[in-house]
Amino acid sequence: MRLRDVGFFVRGRLSLALARALSARQPRLPVAPLPLETVLALRDPSPLDLARVLEGHDNAEREALVARYLAARGVAAETHRFETFEGSGANYAVDVGRGDRILVLIAHHDAVPGSPGANDNAAAVGILLKLLARLAAAPPPRLRVRFLFTAAEELGYLGARAYVRGADLRGVAGALSLELCGIGDALALWDAGTETPLSRAVARAAEGLGYRRDESYHVVGRVPVFGSDHRAFADAGLPGHGLTVVPAGDAEALRRFIFNPWRSILRGASRPRPFDTYHTPRDRAETLDPAALDRVGAALEALVRIF
Ligand SMILES: [Zn+2]
Repeated sequence: MRLRDVGFFVRGRLSLALARALSARQPRLPVAPLPLETVLALRDPSPLDLARVLEGHDNAEREALVARYLAARGVAAETHRFETFEGSGANYAVDVGRGDRILVLIAHHDAVPGSPGANDNAAAVGILLKLLARLAAAPPPRLRVRFLFTAAEELGYLGARAYVRGADLRGVAGALSLELCGIGDALALWDAGTETPLSRAVARAAEGLGYRRDESYHVVGRVPVFGSDHRAFADAGLPGHGLTVVPAGDAEALRRFIFNPWRSILRGASRPRPFDTYHTPRDRAETLDPAALDRVGAALEALVRIF
């Protein structure tokens, strides 16, 4: 047990307690997830279809559903199980493409208890499962893309930390974790205060698709309070950033919120989208915008082709 891990543990528990406090007064409507078999019967399920498979399930079920989906599609995933005093779970890694350079794309499959976990983070899992199918059909010739589906992100990105501790990271040229990718029309790259080859490639990919910096594409520095799996890679000295979709019109309110979330939470002020549903029982699939999920998938595909 390292002192640093105790810090993660305490912070993780605090953020779960906060999520519970925020959710306590909210009504819990039943959620009807899409059965896995229904989605497997579709020839070409959308990212939203895939996200709806996980929605509303508890974390053990979400983890099992990702494994079952990959197995049913004939995808050979490497399973990485971990168990520490902080918690346990299974990460799944799938490599597509060739070469010595590796781009890690990450989506955590767990959710905060009490939240259906649609935007956080079933949407991101759906986006990556869809991209995985697309790249498997046309693998990048000079890049290996590692799809990493992590457990226990909500416990201070425990799954990613355990993965980074145990994995061979030679060749990893960057790690991008997808968070809150289901609502909005502008891209936001965060924890990106310092330029890296990865952040430059994301910018080129976005600009190539017509996004405009500070209008429909935002670059944000180190974000306090919130974090995600890419930080485990950044802590290991590798380029690591978070990718989120936000409503372009709410960008300024969002900037104020993420850099000072406690103030608005403690005041009980309304939170800007997509944080109005974040970690609450209202994080349901019907709040997701299918175009947002498709938008992120297209941006990632462009990134893979130029990175
Ligand atoms: Zn998350």
